[in-house]
Amino acid sequence: MAEHDDRLRTVDEHLAIVLDGIGSLDPIELNLMDAQGLILAENVITDVALPGFDNSAVDGYVVRAVDTKGAEEEKPVTLPVVGDVAAGKGAISGMGAGVSMRIMTGAPIPSGADAVIPLEWTDRGLAQVAIRQPARSGTSIRRAGEDLPAGAPALAAGAALGPQQIALLAAIGRDRVTVRPRPRVLVVSTGSELVEVGHPAGFGEVPDANSYLLAAAARDAGADAYRVGIVPDDHTKLLDVLESQLLRADVLVTTGGVSMGAFDIVKQALSELGTVSFTRVAMQPGKPQGFGHLGDHVPIFCLPGNPVSALVSFEVFVRPAIRKLLGKRSIQRATVQASALERIESPAGVRQYRRGVLHREANGGYSVTLVGGPGSHLIAAMASANCLVVIDEEVTEVVSGSRVTVIPLLLSQR
Ligand code: AMP
Ligand code: MG
Repeated sequence: MAEHDDRLRTVDEHLAIVLDGIGSLDPIELNLMDAQGLILAENVITDVALPGFDNSAVDGYVVRAVDTKGAEEEKPVTLPVVGDVAAGKGAISGMGAGVSMRIMTGAPIPSGADAVIPLEWTDRGLAQVAIRQPARSGTSIRRAGEDLPAGAPALAAGAALGPQQIALLAAIGRDRVTVRPRPRVLVVSTGSELVEVGHPAGFGEVPDANSYLLAAAARDAGADAYRVGIVPDDHTKLLDVLESQLLRADVLVTTGGVSMGAFDIVKQALSELGTVSFTRVAMQPGKPQGFGHLGDHVPIFCLPGNPVSALVSFEVFVRPAIRKLLGKRSIQRATVQASALERIESPAGVRQYRRGVLHREANGGYSVTLVGGPGSHLIAAMASANCLVVIDEEVTEVVSGSRVTVIPLLLSQR
């Protein structure tokens, strides 16, 4: 087999191959609240103006500005109050000269009037009102269309829908929008030693933590994640399960069974199909990686089984793929530079991802300490980490106090 002679593939090379194999999903129409966090797939033009009509910016008295000319603190102008304009009332036409009306914030400006006197400038009178400051035409009036005119672009395809964008869509009367959907990510754990979580594990048996780990990670990355469950180390059973799940999957993720062992049936079974290839990537953990497509070009990731390897592989390869499917502009997590508080060794020629705890220093910078050793079975240590510490391929030693690249594992990027 040539594989053993081959140079290891770099992380960047493998990621490029993965991303190249990730297409795009057809846009779907969703209710506004279901579209939160997703990317708009249409250019939204507003039919209506914002605001929709000239209205009062304050609670006060609506007037003709000329009728308040010369008003002063000591010499107020007094006008009769001929009625009320409440928010939600229809248009009032033709307010006469020399009068005022009480008006509420957001209520339409009667035709004929051109200013609103805030309550604070008045004696708050009911039958008549004393006005202590003159208004100019337009005082305290919000003009129709001053925020967004009718017919204008409201949001462009590619916009990320956060609370503000959802508010704008609601304000222009859109309750459904076309967006890039959340990819459906299906997670399959392989291994004859695995037992369903919640069932007692006999000697030598291991609860299936990975399907929870990866479903949670996929959901956190923005996907709709489903745990398919456990498949034993059995060629035919694996292919049957994958086949039966294909129709409802946008992405398949398996764990376990990709090393060189006699029972590494994921590698054996899927290699034979010819559309999934198994490679060794110059990284630690996560060296054995499978990637390819099944059925109608559904991408499949075959990750190693050790939980830490599975998480690191997910972070490095699967997460960017999910973000790409979501249409996100930035598909990589942000990194920070931190001062390593201990010496770190790393093998030459591989990119090492260690688990760490990132601290924010009083001076605004970051420092990082490692948790657990390099072993990829250390789930508890992984659970106390809040970041991955990246040691580049060419680095064999990080001396205490020097800078390292850190990937904070921030919660919920949905
Ligand atoms: P494998 O990659 O199948 O050789 O598995 C490597 C190690 O990871 C073994 O110790 C497995 O028991 C463990 N492992 C594999 N799959 C899981 C899983 N779903 N949950 C927890 N540990 C696992
Ligand atoms: Mg296994």
